[in-house]
Amino acid sequence: MGTIATDKEQFRNYNHDQVNPAVVEHYRKMRSRQTYDYVQSMKAKYLTYDTPMNLWDAMRKLNELVDVSDPDLDLPNVQHLIQSAEAIRADGREDWMQLVGLIHDLGKMMFVKGSDEDGTSQAEQWGMVGDVFVVGCKLPDTCVYPEFNALNPDMDHPVYGTELGAYSQGCGLDQVDLAWGHDEYLYQVLSHHKNNKIPEAGMVMIRYHSFYPWHTGGSYTQFTTAKDDQYKQWIIDFNQYDLYTKSQKVYELDEVIDYYAPIAEKYLGSDPIWF
Ligand code: FE
Ligand code: FE
Repeated sequence: MGTIATDKEQFRNYNHDQVNPAVVEHYRKMRSRQTYDYVQSMKAKYLTYDTPMNLWDAMRKLNELVDVSDPDLDLPNVQHLIQSAEAIRADGREDWMQLVGLIHDLGKMMFVKGSDEDGTSQAEQWGMVGDVFVVGCKLPDTCVYPEFNALNPDMDHPVYGTELGAYSQGCGLDQVDLAWGHDEYLYQVLSHHKNNKIPEAGMVMIRYHSFYPWHTGGSYTQFTTAKDDQYKQWIIDFNQYDLYTKSQKVYELDEVIDYYAPIAEKYLGSDPIWF
């Protein structure tokens, strides 16, 4: 694991005294506004697959976005993507996983279609980034800043405020709705991309990498199945590269395209992706 920083305690430090107040404010808004109904309306609004974009043009868009929820990095998001991919590559992992590292946050290009009102803009990112949780059931105290859970209007709802909420025991994570954000958006966009050949493990890494209360916090066992336990192993494997590779090292996308373009073509073809 030569490419991975050993002092893990330096990452994901959300301590109120040490973190940028914008990170705390991001989570306060996210927790209070991401309701079950909000997520349904965002799915209807953003999963329209009407904006064709070349993969590299979409990646370049991320040069305009700095993730406000990330306490570890203040570089444009495309830098984090290249850092993740390069660490996976340096460890000699599979080519598809290198590609997943490179594109796993590409769903943040949602801000191109986004608005402050939806929390999907540069100024308001609470509908786009940050750790996600299940909507439509009780919020667990494994969420970052659990003191904000009470601000979510669904917690007073007779169904959505309960342990099972809108779902049933053992239904599987595929059946629950997560807070709206870049994971689900990219997962759905790629699932609808006709040339997508990314293996299931890669698609799972894309879909659930921000789902910390589950993959790291251990919550939501009321829903999970043996299949989800496999999902978790994939996510934990991927997470080391998503989290511990963040650094101030700056890459140029154009310098790494030559290496990644043939891998992207192998798994995504050369047609535009419909966002
Ligand atoms: Fe992410
Ligand atoms: Fe990431």
